[in-house]
Amino acid sequence: MNFKYILDLFYPNRCSCCGKFIGWRSYLCDECLISVSELSANPCEICGKDECICGSGIYYDRSVVCFYYEGIVRHGIITLKEGRDKSFAEFIGEMLGRKIAADPELGKADLIIPVPSSRDRIRKRGYNQALIIAQVAGKTAGIKVRNNVLHKIKSEYQHTLTSEKRAENVSSIIPGKESPEGMKVIVCDDVITTGNTMNRCAEILKSMGAEKVYAALGTTTKLKKRKDENGTGHRN
Ligand SMILES: [Zn+2]
Ligand SMILES: [Zn+2]
Repeated sequence: MNFKYILDLFYPNRCSCCGKFIGWRSYLCDECLISVSELSANPCEICGKDECICGSGIYYDRSVVCFYYEGIVRHGIITLKEGRDKSFAEFIGEMLGRKIAADPELGKADLIIPVPSSRDRIRKRGYNQALIIAQVAGKTAGIKVRNNVLHKIKSEYQHTLTSEKRAENVSSIIPGKESPEGMKVIVCDDVITTGNTMNRCAEILKSMGAEKVYAALGTTTKLKKRKDENGTGHRN
């Protein structure tokens, strides 16, 4: 019997966007599913941004993105980041897994890993949402998942830093125990904003010998939104 079904007997499933009761097989209610699908993203296929950042020199080779960081999707990601509910990460993971499986290049990757989170932050939030996304995406696409290829060593919250400091802070990502040498590696995250974090992960993975690095992103912000949302504190 499916474990999730057993859990459902005690804890009825709720829509990970609006909280309405739903069946145990779904992540979202019908209304939210429609709202979410209207936010399907179509950014640059290499960098994953609407306003392409490829020209600034990026280390990852391609990306797949599910949604724009707007409306109900933004709400779902904020809920995740605040550590209140992780089911939206499972939804994002499944969507990304399907995209990965359907992609002739990413579908052949050797490994899926999360953008690393510091131990401190995981303790505060209760989980690393990028790891949940990676686990569900890996299961959906049939690609193995590892969590010890990259590590994060500092604990500063990104949103408390200036943009200059934020760029410095990504350098606290360091190589982990497991080597990606000769492998095609997919790196998962819930949102891409400046691209600094993903780029740093890719730079390190390449220096560790990874053959290709792909970004699998739940959401991407748009430039105008980024300005509007200054100070909301939900950025990466
Ligand atoms: Zn809903
Ligand atoms: Zn681009």
